[in-house]
Amino acid sequence: MSLIIKNISLLLENDLEFINCGYIVIGKDGLISHAGQGDFRNTNKHDKVFDGEGLLACPGFVNAHTHIGDSRGGGSEGIKLLNDALFDTPIKYVALGRPEYYFTIHPSSDGEKVDRYPYKSPKETLSTNFNKTSHKILEVCDGFGISGANENSDESLNQYRKVAHEYREKSRRNIIVAIHAAESEQTVTFSVSATGKSEVQRILLNLMPDFIVHMTNASDEDITRVAEQGVGIVVCPRSNGILGVGFPRVAKMLRLGCHVGIGTDNVMINSPDMFREMDYLWKMSRTIDDEFLSARDVLKMATVNGGKILKIKSGSIAPNMSADMIFFKKDHIDLAPLHNPYAAIVHRADMDSIHNVMINGRLIDGEEF
Ligand SMILES: [Zn+2]
Repeated sequence: MSLIIKNISLLLENDLEFINCGYIVIGKDGLISHAGQGDFRNTNKHDKVFDGEGLLACPGFVNAHTHIGDSRGGGSEGIKLLNDALFDTPIKYVALGRPEYYFTIHPSSDGEKVDRYPYKSPKETLSTNFNKTSHKILEVCDGFGISGANENSDESLNQYRKVAHEYREKSRRNIIVAIHAAESEQTVTFSVSATGKSEVQRILLNLMPDFIVHMTNASDEDITRVAEQGVGIVVCPRSNGILGVGFPRVAKMLRLGCHVGIGTDNVMINSPDMFREMDYLWKMSRTIDDEFLSARDVLKMATVNGGKILKIKSGSIAPNMSADMIFFKKDHIDLAPLHNPYAAIVHRADMDSIHNVMINGRLIDGEEF
C-alpha cells in the first residue's frame, strides 16, 4: 500500500524544478517511489490518496550544523543524553561527538613555524587514550565534530582521520568528520603566524573531513582548494553576524564549485530557525556581496546540499529519497500569489504558512489533508 498525493505543486529533485500540478508517491518504507508532473495512475485499490490541491511540497530543511550541549556534551556521555532525549521524537539527526582533547599551538621562539604541544608525555599514551575514547564515541554517534585546526596538532588531526577511517571499515557505517575553520580573521591570522599554513591547508593536509564549518574569512585560494577536494562547506551567517566576524561569500563559493549547506550553529548564541537563516543569508548577500546569489540557490543549500553533505537520504523530493517534506499553504497571505516559489519561501514563509510536515512518510504536525 502506498500513499499518493495528487494535484500538488512541488519542488522536484535536486534542481528544485517547480511543478505546478503533480504527484508524489510514498511507499510504506517511508521512501518516495515516484514524483513528477501531471497525474499518477494508481492500480492498487488499497493505496491511500490525498488531494494536495492548494499546497506546495518543499523538501524538508536540513540544518547542517548546530551545537546543543557544546563541547562539554560532545563526549560519549553527552551523545547518550542527546540520543535519549530524541528517542521518542520524529526528529531526524546526525550526531557528531569528540573526545575532550585540546592542544595549544604556540609560535616557536626561533621563528620556525612548528607546532608545540603542551603535553609532556610521549605520543603512545595520547594515542592509546585517544583511540579508546574515540571508538567509544563513534559507537553511539555518527562521526566526529572537531573544534578547529588551531586547537589541534597535525598529529591529532591525522589521528582523527585514521580512527574515522578504521571505524568506517570496521562498522561499514557512514562516519562523518566535520571541523570549524576560518571563522574569524583572528583564527586565520593566528594559524598562518603560528604554523605557516592556513587552517584550511592544515585541515586538507591532515584530516580531509567531509565538511568544514564557516569559511567566513577563508581566502580565495582556500575556497578553491576546498572545491577541488570535494569537501563540503556549511555556512552559519547569523552566528557570524552575532559574533561580528563577517559574512560568508557564498555566491563565490558556489561559483568556484563548492557544495555549500546552511547551519544555525551554537543554539546558545543563535536560534535554530532555518527560515531566519535563509532570510538573513539572502538579504545580506544582496546588500554586501558583489556576486549574485539567487533565492533558489539559498533554498537548495537549506535542503538538497545539506542532505548531500550529511550523506542522508533527505533534502530532495525524488525517487528513493526519504519522504521528508514541508507542505506550504499556497494561499497563505505571505505566499500568495506564488510568482516565485523560491523567493516566497526564502524571504516570506514562516511556521504559520505551513500546512503540515512529513518525516519518513508520516505526517508529524499540522492540519490533515
Ligand atoms: Zn559551530
